[in-house]
Amino acid sequence: MITLTDKDLFKTKGYINGQWMESSDQTCFDVDNPATGEVIATVARCGSAEARKAIEAAHTAYGSWRQLTALQRADYLYKWYELIMTHLEDLAYLLTAEQGKPLAEAGNEIRYGAGYIRWFAEEARRIYGDTIPQAANDKRLVCIKQPVGVVACITPWNFPNAMLTRKIAPALAAGCTVVCKPAGSTPLSALALAELAHRAGIPAGVVNVVAGSTRAIGNELTANPLVRKLTFTGSTRVGKTLIKACADTVKKTSMELGGNAPFIVFDDADPDAAVAGAIVSKYRNAGQTCVCSNRLLVQSGIYDIFMEKFTDAVQKMKLGPGTEQGVAIGPMITTDAVNDVDAMVQDAVDKGASIVTGGKRSGLGARFYEPTILGRVTSDMQVFREEIFGPVAPVIRFDTEAEAIQMANDTEFGLAAYFYSRDIGRVWRVAEELEYGIVGINEGLVSNEAAPFGGIKESGNGREGSKYGLDDYLEIKYLCMGGVNK
Ligand code: NAP
Repeated sequence: MITLTDKDLFKTKGYINGQWMESSDQTCFDVDNPATGEVIATVARCGSAEARKAIEAAHTAYGSWRQLTALQRADYLYKWYELIMTHLEDLAYLLTAEQGKPLAEAGNEIRYGAGYIRWFAEEARRIYGDTIPQAANDKRLVCIKQPVGVVACITPWNFPNAMLTRKIAPALAAGCTVVCKPAGSTPLSALALAELAHRAGIPAGVVNVVAGSTRAIGNELTANPLVRKLTFTGSTRVGKTLIKACADTVKKTSMELGGNAPFIVFDDADPDAAVAGAIVSKYRNAGQTCVCSNRLLVQSGIYDIFMEKFTDAVQKMKLGPGTEQGVAIGPMITTDAVNDVDAMVQDAVDKGASIVTGGKRSGLGARFYEPTILGRVTSDMQVFREEIFGPVAPVIRFDTEAEAIQMANDTEFGLAAYFYSRDIGRVWRVAEELEYGIVGINEGLVSNEAAPFGGIKESGNGREGSKYGLDDYLEIKYLCMGGVNK
C-alpha cells in the first residue's frame, strides 16, 4: 500500500479541464510495484472520448492562456515548482513505488524535473523576436514568436516525472496548453503532478492528463486537428509510428527516442574517473535510461586496470527494492524487460562473449537482474546493436582512436556518447567526430535543465531544456509592413 504524508497526491482518475474524471465506460487498469508485483493502484482507463474532451478543454483554455503576459505564466510555473519541491518526499516515494528506482534516485528525478519548471518559468520572459534589415526602403520586416497551440505529450515509464515536466514547462511558458498521456505502468507520478498544477492555480484546461488505453488515446492525439504539436519521449519504434500518424494533419513533432551510447575509455584517461562515470552512466535506473552507456569501448593500454576497477565497483553495488537502505540498483520495470535483457546476454554468450560478473536473474524476485559485465563483445552481438535497457555493460577492446570512432558511430542511433581522455587535442577531435546530440567528456552524468537534450539520426529531433527548449513550442511569424514612405 502507498502511504503518503499528503494523501491527496494519490490520484487515480483522469485530470480533464481542471476536474478528476472516471472513464466514460467506467473501466480501470492496475498499476503495480515492480519490486513486489503488488497492485498499488487501480486507475481510470481513459480512451478516445476522454482524450477528445481533454483536447477540447485545452483548445478552449489556449485562448486565454496565450493572452497572459509572460510574467503571469512564469508566476504560475514558479508556484508549481515550489509546490513540487515542498512535496518532494511524497513524490519520490510514489515514483519508487510505481517505477522501482532507488528512493534517492527518485528524489533526484523530482529535483531534476522541477528544475525544468523553474528554468522555463525564467525563460518565459525571454521569448524575443527579431527585426530584419529591410529589403526595400518603404518596408519594415519583423519576426514575432507565437505559441504553437494545443500540444500532446506522450511520455515513457523510466522517468515518470521528469519526462513530463521537460515538456509541460516549455509548452506552458510559450503559451501552449497540453494534453498528456503518461506510460500505463507509471501514471501516478503524472497524476500527482497534475494535482500540484491544480493547487498552483494553473487554470482549468491548461494541463490535462489522460492515462489508459494506449492506442485509443494515441490515435486521438495524433489525428485530432486541434492538436498542433506532438512531443514524444519513448522508443524509436513507437516514435516512427507517431510521426507517420501525425503526417495527415501535418503536426509539428519533437521526438526524444532510443539510444545506443558508446562509452570510450582512451589509454590516457584517469581510470578511476572513467570507472565512476561508467557506473553512473550504465547502472543508473537499473540501466533503463535512454542515455545509458550501451557499449563500453576500452583501449588496450588501459583495458586491464579499467576492468579490474570496474568489476570491483559493480560487484559492490547493492541490488534490491528501491525503498531499502543502501540499494543502488532496483528492479526492472516488467518481467518481459528482464526476459529481453537475459535473451541479449544469452545471444552474446552464444556468440563468444564472456561473463565477467552477473549475467543472470537475481533470486530477489522476478524483476531483478544482476548487474552484469560482458567481456569479448563483438559487433555482431545484439548488445552491440540494440538498446539494452538493463544493467548489462558489454565491453569491447580497441587499439586506435580511428577504430573507436568507427565503432562508436556504427549505429542508427545518435543520442548520447561519452569518452574519457586527458589529451586536449584528442578531446576536440573525438568530440567533433562523434555523431551524437550529447557528448559527455570525462563526465558520465550530462543532463540538466540548462543544457540542450536531444538526439540526431534515429534518436529523434528537437531539444529539451536550455534556451533552445522553447523553440519547439513556438512558431515564427514574419510581418512585412509596407507603405512606410508614403
Ligand atoms: P515506448 O514503448 O515507446 O512507450 C513510450 C510511451 O508511448 C508510453 O506512454 C506508451 O504508452 C506510448 N505508446 C506506445 N505505443 C503507442 C502508440 N501506438 N500510440 C501512442 N502512444 C504509444 O517506450 P518505453 O518502453 O515506455 O520507454 C523506453 C524507451 O524510451 C527507450 O527506447 C528509451 O531510450 C526511450 N527514452 C528516450 C528518452 C530521450 O529523451 N531520448 C528519454 C527516456 C526514454 P503505454 O505505456 O500505455 O504503452
